[in-house]
Formats: sequence, structure tokens, C-alpha cells
Amino acid sequence: MTDKSLIQFPWGSLRRFNTYAHYCQQTYGTRLQKLSIDAGFTCPNRDGKVGTGGCTYCVNDAFNPSYCLPTKSITQQIDEGIEFHQFRYRRATKYIAYFQAYSNTYKDIAALKQLYGEALAHPQISGISVGTRPDCVDEEKIAYLSELAQTHFVSIEYGIESCYNRTLAAINRGHTYETAVEAIRMTADKGLFIAVHIILGLPHETRQEMLAEASLLSALPINSLKLHQLQLLKNTVMEREFQQHPSDFHLFSLEEYIDFVIDFLELLRPDIIIERLSGEAPPRYLAHSSWGLIRADQVLMQIERRMEERDTWQGKFYRRS
Ligand code: SF4
Repeated sequence: MTDKSLIQFPWGSLRRFNTYAHYCQQTYGTRLQKLSIDAGFTCPNRDGKVGTGGCTYCVNDAFNPSYCLPTKSITQQIDEGIEFHQFRYRRATKYIAYFQAYSNTYKDIAALKQLYGEALAHPQISGISVGTRPDCVDEEKIAYLSELAQTHFVSIEYGIESCYNRTLAAINRGHTYETAVEAIRMTADKGLFIAVHIILGLPHETRQEMLAEASLLSALPINSLKLHQLQLLKNTVMEREFQQHPSDFHLFSLEEYIDFVIDFLELLRPDIIIERLSGEAPPRYLAHSSWGLIRADQVLMQIERRMEERDTWQGKFYRRS
């Protein structure tokens, strides 16, 4: 009889989804630890170019580690990030500068060269990961990033959040799904590593619509995916909307989310690398939480345990469209 716990999945590991840790180990022989950087960018959905109020759920500080301050140089943030992570994760030997706060391609090309260049000049940095909006890239910026990718790891991370224009309008994203698809295709044409970010549980989206996003994303030339559950943060437009119209929202309980995210993974293309399966805003920012004080790594363990129980895996029901 075959021991099911020893079955290797198509991505070459025993884990039931295609983990970023496995990808790093296979490709670079080690863990790639991301170090968050706040390089003083802003966002066109806040400064008036696209909008002023920002996305209805946005509180950037909720995801920014305390050592990240735009008043510090990039080099100093990297040094402090390495010190922080060496204490927590002793296994990390390669570091990636993660331009995370706000929209990290929203400056002219000369400024981007200076900022990314400072990060890549750091002796312990092996590459950069650039988080941005799909309406903040153009041919010139993508060409520059692909030049950097000749000698370093370079990933561009697009916040898509939803594949539905109705939802994107409701959360005031200020761009459409078509803009995201266009940016992804332009980036893929230059061979860059593409990560995308999606929120599960946005108001008015049905379970079927959210599951259909797994197929829509699988049809795009993306390399990796970050999923997280909607987290209602204090003092946001979305918190007020929730107070006024709670029936417009369906906030996942932990147990429900675990099974839902597994259903989502079953429909996803097996070669899409999973960078994250849940979000973890610091409790002091949360306006509503029924999950208790559980960390993302504990949620991950529960998801994997449940996948075992269900004897399922990423892509089990994936069909090429
Ligand atoms: S695009 Fe990002 S930084 Fe800008 S408002 Fe939306 S969530 Fe906030």
C-alpha cells in the first residue's frame, strides 16, 4: 500500500501546494528572506492623480514593520531588517529588498534607478521585489526592471485585489481588471517574475465569483500569488460601510476560510507559487476579528492539516481554459 504522506506533488515536494519556500530552495538553494522597505513612495489613488481617498480598506501602516521609515536610508532599513530577521529566522542566507509601502514604481525612472540601485548595491541583497499598482508601470519602467533581472532576482508584485470591475469600483481601487491584465501581459513579455495579490471576501462578491477568480488568474502569465482574507481595519471607509450595511459583507470565520481557500487552491494552476494564504494585520488595527490572536503561520498549518484530511492538493480540479 502506498503511504500517501510520501507522494510528491507536481512541483516536486511533499507539501500539498506549491510553496514559495520550496521554489526558493529549488531555484536558489536557500530561503530568500524579504526585507520590507518604505522608500517614501506615495500612491496615485491618494495624491489626486487617480483619486484622493485611497482604497476603502487601506491603512498602509498596518502592513509596514516598525523599522521601515522613509526617513531612514534604504541601506539603513536593509541593515535593520537583516538584524531583525537574523534573530527570528536564522536559516536565511539571501535577502530580497521588498519595496512594499504604497506604489513602488510611482516615481520617474531616474528616481527608481537611484532607489533600486541603492538596494542592489547592498552586499547582502540578492534582488528586489517591487509592490505596485497595475496602473503605475509603463514600457520604460518594465524594460529597466528586466535589465536588472539579467543579474538579480527581480519580482514585480501587482495588487489586483479582485477580478471584477464592479468590486474594484466599490472599493475605490481607481483601476480596472483590464488594466491589471494589460500590465501583467506587458511584464510577462519581458520575462519578469510576476506576483499578484488578491483579497478574498470583498463586499458583494459571491462564493462562486471568488472561486472563479482561481480560474481567471490561472489563465494569466503569473508566477506567484498572495491571497488574504478581507480584514476590516479601524478608521477606514470600509469600516463605516460595514457599520452601515453589515449585510453587504461576508467576513469569513477561520474554519470557513480554511476550507474556502482549499477549494480555491484546488482550482488553481499547479505551477503558480503560493507566497501567502492569509493576512495578519496587527490586532490593534482590526475593527472586527473573529479569528482571535492566531498568526499566519498557524493558519497555514491548519490549512495544510485540513488538506491532508481532505486528501486534496493545489490544482486537483484545475482545467486549462
Ligand atoms: S493602491 Fe495601495 S497604497 Fe494606494 S490606496 Fe490602494 S491599498 Fe492604499
